[in-house]
Amino acid sequence: MPGEKADVVMFGPKPIIEEELSKASGLHLHRVWAAPDHEALVASIAPAVRAIAAAGGHGRIDGAMMSQFPKLEIVASFGVGYDHIDAKWAGEHGIIVTNTPDVLNEEVADTALGLLLCTVRHLPQAEKYLRAGKWPAHGDYQLTPSLRDRTVGIIGMGRIGKAIARRLDAMKVPVVYHTRRPVADVAYRHYPNVVDMARDVDVIIVITPGGAGTKNLVNADVLKALGPEGILINVARGSVVDEAALIKALKDKTILSAGLDVFANEPKVPQELIDMDNVVLLPHVGSASHATRRAMDELVANNIISWFSGKGPITPVPETPVKK
Ligand code: NDP
Repeated sequence: MPGEKADVVMFGPKPIIEEELSKASGLHLHRVWAAPDHEALVASIAPAVRAIAAAGGHGRIDGAMMSQFPKLEIVASFGVGYDHIDAKWAGEHGIIVTNTPDVLNEEVADTALGLLLCTVRHLPQAEKYLRAGKWPAHGDYQLTPSLRDRTVGIIGMGRIGKAIARRLDAMKVPVVYHTRRPVADVAYRHYPNVVDMARDVDVIIVITPGGAGTKNLVNADVLKALGPEGILINVARGSVVDEAALIKALKDKTILSAGLDVFANEPKVPQELIDMDNVVLLPHVGSASHATRRAMDELVANNIISWFSGKGPITPVPETPVKK
């Protein structure tokens, strides 16, 4: 009987999410990308759609996008960051937004540490040197900067920031941090002002949410305060760092180097960065292992399944709280 099952829409393929949603009784999954006419499919299902599994292919999910679906109850988003969704609008219109926190903390922290070590110790550049046959031809690779005697300032001390700090503790690297509010359960020194912290540290690791609240938080002033031996690692969102100011700071040697997993206009990366040898660049791979991506996929599907089985969402974002 039509209307008996809850209609769920996906805009791009994600096999594990599709599989989980398809085998759940009570759900009817619509695959927009597989339809010959995407717009025609969306128009025909829009009046019935009650859930979006937002895992790619949909662009920005703002009020105009969500309004197409008058019966929309839940947007289950893939990833912990949800700056591509207008969660405030959703909250004001009674729509739940969920994300995938915690299941990716350790993976992203591993990536941050890998990127830090690669950037400080030139590991990708040294490997390129070997592969190019330069070792026998030109002798040992040049000496590099070191993580010894450096203090790391983390911008963002949430779930992932804490996992990064734990790894640095084990490596005996001192940690301080900047957030808007001090974190109760950590002993690291808190800086209410990011420029003050930049002045006191040798490395900054950025791991905050993206969006308007953090746009260009790392600007020319922060980079100047970080100084000529300073290293910037960004595993948060490209928008958190003023990319033009960063390129200028790297060119002018205002800072020493940078390691970036995220960019302002992904997947486009400025050619100026690609041409620099004092940067390490990754294609947004923070959480990108088989195991972690599976856990994220399952959490997207399980939020929808839990919602329609009456148990509430598993991981709603703070803008769309659910009364238990
Ligand atoms: P949490 O919400 O647990 O932590 C966010 C931290 O950022 C908090 O300490 C918060 O403190 C701080 N913060 C937020 N706004 C500001 C601000 N304006 N100025 C200073 N600090 C701020 O998030 P997670 O640790 O789970 O994730 C963090 C982010 O990491 C995600 O939102 C995403 O953007 C990014 N990420 C990147 C990945 C990648 O592949 N590269 C993968 C996963 C996540 P306070 O509110 O007190 O300021």
